[in-house]
Amino acid sequence: MHRKWVRVLECMVFYSGIAVLWLRPAAAQQVAFDFDSQVSAADRVVIQSAVPFANGYFRGQFGAAVAHVTVNVFSTDDPDGKGSTANAGSETILVFTRSRGWSEASDEGRFKIMVHEMFHVLQYQLADGGLGAERWLAEGSAEYVGYRGADAAGVLRFGLAKARQVEEARAQTKPLQTMVLADPGFYSVAFVAAEVLANRSGFPALAEYFRRGPTAQTFETVFGQPPSSFAQQFDAQRQELPRSE
Ligand SMILES: [Zn+2]
Repeated sequence: MHRKWVRVLECMVFYSGIAVLWLRPAAAQQVAFDFDSQVSAADRVVIQSAVPFANGYFRGQFGAAVAHVTVNVFSTDDPDGKGSTANAGSETILVFTRSRGWSEASDEGRFKIMVHEMFHVLQYQLADGGLGAERWLAEGSAEYVGYRGADAAGVLRFGLAKARQVEEARAQTKPLQTMVLADPGFYSVAFVAAEVLANRSGFPALAEYFRRGPTAQTFETVFGQPPSSFAQQFDAQRQELPRSE
C-alpha cells in the first residue's frame, strides 16, 4: 500500500480511538430494564416512564444523575418475605409487583415509588458507599424527592400528598432518631423532616449531603446544625407543622 494511505489509515484509527473515548461518558448514562414475562403492560409503562424521567429531573435539580442502573421487575411478592415493595442498591432496583405496597398503590403512587428508588441509587452513587447513620434522612429525602418529582412530571399534586404526610407524621410521637423503617408513620415523619431541611437549606442540599459523604459533620455543614439537635428541635415542633405549603 502507498505510504500516504498508511498514514491516512493510522490517522483514522487514532481519531476513531479519540471518538470512542469522547463518546464514553454519554454511553455510560445507561438504564436497563429486566421485566419477567408476567409483569403487566401497565406496570411496564409506569416504570419505563418514571425511571428516565427521574434521571432527567435529578440532572436538572441536583446537577447529577444515576450513571448505571438495572431495574429488575418481578411479578411476585418479595421472596425474602420482608414485604418489600421495591428496594435499591448502588446499581440495581428490585420491584415486586405482587407486594402489598405495589398492589395497593395507584399508577401515580407507583410512579412516585420509582422516583424514590431512583433517588436511593443516586444517593449510593453520590456517596460512593453507605447512606450514613441518619436512616430517616436517606428515606425521608427519597420520599420527598419522589413526591416532588411525581408532581413535576404532572402525575400527582405535591400539596395533597404533603397534607396527608403531615397528618400522618403528627400522629406519631416516637423520636425521629429512634424510628426504624417498620414503625408506623416512619416514611411520613421522615418526609416531613426532609422537607424542613430542604426549606431551610434548599432542595439541592438533599443531594449535596450524600455527595459530600453522609456523616454528622456533613449534616452540620450542609444543614447548619448537628443531626441530634435538629432531631430534638424537630420532635418538639412536630405537632405544630403546617399542613399546606
Ligand atoms: Zn426507600
